[in-house]
Order: sequence, then structure tokens, then C-alpha cells
Amino acid sequence: MRTQSNNLMLLIKLLTLHSLLVLSTSQQFDFFYFVQQWPGSYCNTKDGCCYPINGKPTSEFGIHGLWPSLKDGSRPSYCDSSNPFNASKISNLISQMKSEGPTLSCPSNDGLTFWSDEWNKHGTCSESVLDQHRYFITALNIKNRVNFRLALEEARIYPNGSEYSLSNIRDALKRPNGVTPWIECNNDALGKNQLYQIYVCVNNEWDAEYIECPVFPTESCGSSIKFPLF
Ligand code: AMP
Repeated sequence: MRTQSNNLMLLIKLLTLHSLLVLSTSQQFDFFYFVQQWPGSYCNTKDGCCYPINGKPTSEFGIHGLWPSLKDGSRPSYCDSSNPFNASKISNLISQMKSEGPTLSCPSNDGLTFWSDEWNKHGTCSESVLDQHRYFITALNIKNRVNFRLALEEARIYPNGSEYSLSNIRDALKRPNGVTPWIECNNDALGKNQLYQIYVCVNNEWDAEYIECPVFPTESCGSSIKFPLF
């Protein structure tokens, strides 16, 4: 009788441990930031940039990354060193990644280091939802839903080195999909505040639907910002 109840207790403990393990390896983030970058603002800083070996990217926003994030504003990183970036898993996406998420780091390179850093730092934290191939295809799909440069152009906001009001930029970027974007600024070589990256939020599911951001990063822009040439 005693042995039977001991066995039952052991079984309950094992089941509890198992469900705790399953829970700890499933969804550990609340939403994604999808971040696009204006190449002109990466390149005109005091550090400059290098065009990829296949040439100057087009005058469009490029993918920086898809970043698993928590509602408290934190972002998990480097979640699984046992699943490092493997270019062969995205071989059919490389040419699209070259044009939609161009590398700008120096020395000039083919982009694999940039995307590898994105997968290893951010992508591994989304493994419960997206594998490597799905991670990059999801980023490409989100980017292709809306062309942010055209959305700005429709509001007469052009990459011509002029300054525009931050709230006009935000309104123009909100128009196509209805969710509030967050704008990140950096400084050009002369210290002028400029439009650097656009963040939108998507849910932490396979379909990555747009959602209102549960939290925004700390403001980095003034009320009027430059939109540089590229
Ligand atoms: P993250 O950790 O994802 O915020 O990425 C930051 C790192 O990505 C920094 O080292 C940046 O210099 C680098 N980075 C950002 N944009 C690019 C780009 N277009 N090409 C290459 N590296 C980039």
C-alpha cells in the first residue's frame, strides 16, 4: 500500500516537472518589434557605412530585424546557442534578403554576418513560434505588406535632407495599416537628429498580425527631424 502511494507521488512529481519544462521552453515573449531602417541614416553618421558587395541598395527602408519582446519593455537575447544561424536553411531567401535587408557594415560584405547576428541574438528567442526559415520569411512578408517610403511620399515627406515634423511622419506611417509606429532617431555626422528606424509591433504567432505596441522604447527624436538622402 505504502509503495503504491510512493509511486503515485513520484508520478505526480514527474508530471509536474514535465509540465514546468514544457512551459519554460514555450513562448517566452509577448510580441515582436519589426524594425526597418533608412539606409541614408545609417550611412551619413560619423562612422559611415560600406555598401554590400553586390552594390548600393535601393532607396527604400531595409529590414533590420524581428525582435521578440516583453510587455515590460525588455528583450530576450541569445536564447539558444545550440541552434546557430545556418545559411543553408535560408538559401532560397538569400537574394530577397540582399535586396530587402541589405548589410551596410564595413568592410563591404555579402550580408550573411548581419543576418546571422539577427538570428543568433533575436531569432533564437522566437524558436517556440518560428524556425530559422520561417523567421526570415516572416520578416520579408511583413516588410512587403506596406512600403513605408511610399507612405511618407503620399504625405509629401521625401528623403531629400529636409526636416519634417515627427508627428506628421508618425501619422503618415500609421495610415496604411492603422497601427502606431515608433520612430527611432540617430544623429548625422554633424549631430543633426534624423529618421533612422521605424518599429511596428506584430503578435507572437505564426501569422505575425499587426498589433498596437504594448510598450514603446524611450523617445530618441526631437519634434522636427531630418529625412536624409540615399
Ligand atoms: P541589434 O542588436 O539587432 O539591435 O543590432 C545592432 C547591430 O546591428 C549593431 O552592431 C549595428 O551596427 C548592426 N546593424 C544595424 N543595421 C545594420 C545593417 N544594415 N548592416 C549591418 N549591420 C547593421
